[in-house]
Amino acid sequence: MPFPLFFAFSRHVRFNAMNTIDGKSPQNPKPEGPAWVDSHAHLDMEDFDPDRDEVIRRALAAGVKAVLCPADLTSDKSLRATLKIVAGHPSFLAAAGIHPHQAKLFSEDDTRKLRDLGIGRIIAALGEIGLDFHYDFATPEEQQRAFRDQLRLADELRLPAIIHSRLAGGEVAAAVREEGFRSGGILHCYTEDWETARAMIDLGFYISFSGILTFPKAGSLREIAAKVPLNRLLVETDSPYLAPVPFRARKRNEPAFVVETARVLAALKGVSLEELAEATTRNFFSLFPGA
Ligand SMILES: [Zn+2]
Ligand SMILES: [Zn+2]
Repeated sequence: MPFPLFFAFSRHVRFNAMNTIDGKSPQNPKPEGPAWVDSHAHLDMEDFDPDRDEVIRRALAAGVKAVLCPADLTSDKSLRATLKIVAGHPSFLAAAGIHPHQAKLFSEDDTRKLRDLGIGRIIAALGEIGLDFHYDFATPEEQQRAFRDQLRLADELRLPAIIHSRLAGGEVAAAVREEGFRSGGILHCYTEDWETARAMIDLGFYISFSGILTFPKAGSLREIAAKVPLNRLLVETDSPYLAPVPFRARKRNEPAFVVETARVLAALKGVSLEELAEATTRNFFSLFPGA
């Protein structure tokens, strides 16, 4: 997509805590419940084509006021769809990047595109980027190159990085440290060990938990989550994947369900749901102060 077209989607992002749901009577306002942020949802995916507006309406009704939407930079369709969604919802943010699964495709052209998107502040973060040694869609060398090049670019643009890591915690932390990356970001859908979480917190990152935290077999992940300080925690859905308990039977996850992961996290941290909402929302907006 040529650069000027991106500006068509450009807008100042405002966090509107008073978003009201269609049809709600202003004479009889429901008390404001906690405000949530879904820090990672792929709302551009075709799983949402039949009812995307309804999904977003349900998110707002559940108190989810902001959603970070990472686009797949290798797909013009994904990027266009993501930018359209955030243009229509002023508190939603877009990110873009080359996912480790697509690292083979990473090119100079992608760097140019990302730089334009970043300079124009069309995207609020680079991602998702990272390393995934569970799948071998790209070699470790290809993944390291794409990851480190994008980290350097994010730092140059002063934008946070949204990092995906699977069986790669040590390597991810080493890359962030070795590249001298200082712009912070989110370690998304966290599933690894406490040492990596600790290292990434020290490197200025927030740790974001998904519906996996609610799964019966995720006991060791819950132990790790309990150790992450409240001021470093985020929650996400990674929609349309990973629906939390009690929605496991559904084929599709959606941002409204982020509250279920939050319920488990609040219990682990020994805080009320309201306190967790306040902390995670504050954390998100301290990473994106212009939002
Ligand atoms: Zn991911
Ligand atoms: Zn994702």
